Amino acid sequence: MIVDYHTHSSLCKHGEGDVEEYIRKALALGLDEIGCSEHMPMPDGFDLRHRMSLEEYYTSYAPRVSVLAEQYRGRIAVRRGLEAEFLPGADDWIEKFIEENDFDYVIGSIHFLGDLRTVKPLFHVEYAEHEIEQLHTEYFEAICASAQCRRYDIIGHCDLIKKFGVRATPKIEEACWEALKAIRAGDIAIEINTSGLRKPEHDTYPGIKVLERARELNIPLTLGSDAHKPEQVGLFFDKAVALLEKFGGGRISLFEGRQRREVRVSRFKAA
Ligand SMILES: [Zn+2]
Ligand SMILES: [Zn+2]
Repeated sequence: MIVDYHTHSSLCKHGEGDVEEYIRKALALGLDEIGCSEHMPMPDGFDLRHRMSLEEYYTSYAPRVSVLAEQYRGRIAVRRGLEAEFLPGADDWIEKFIEENDFDYVIGSIHFLGDLRTVKPLFHVEYAEHEIEQLHTEYFEAICASAQCRRYDIIGHCDLIKKFGVRATPKIEEACWEALKAIRAGDIAIEINTSGLRKPEHDTYPGIKVLERARELNIPLTLGSDAHKPEQVGLFFDKAVALLEKFGGGRISLFEGRQRREVRVSRFKAA
């Protein structure tokens, strides 16, 4: 059994292709399940450059995913996912949106630090050297808080902050460990996100160091490419499966109707 639970489409405004092209790619690769996990709509036009509006979600994305799930039934399971934000100040909105929709799973990702009013973006921005340690610490504190709110099934790209440079000070390590303990306490899975292998970091999110700690805590693992183009579906999954074998006991978490079950992961042959 092998799945790709983290995919986008042209609706995220910085991706390419229709949802169906992602499904077809997954089918061609022999995946058992494909999850459509577009960025969630946010209130008051927040960050519309990287996400659909609420209207687009209800009139276009959600019905399209449902129709395709039906159309491909028996060939590949199409899961209704979501890449949700964790952002203090928008909690009620996020909570309500998740409650009102019928997802198979919800990924909680940190793309902004701070809160709705004082956002500190983690994309298309650079930070000065003296800010980096604090940035790492704040990031893991936000991951910790996102796990504690018990709103998400999967924590997305959980060490993404290393894109600003790998740092390992005692303060950062402590914040990371606390975040992982909160993930364990919340019985939440983390994804092995292969998108970092397409980027200058050349590493999965999370990398081996965090995965070693996750294994110590017996945190369930799942898999996502964070594809922003159809051809990125399943990319580097041969490497990810090797990590699932090593750090997840060869098990992968599957989700349906927000229920998790763990099964044996299949071998994956890179195309
Ligand atoms: Zn993300
Ligand atoms: Zn994503």
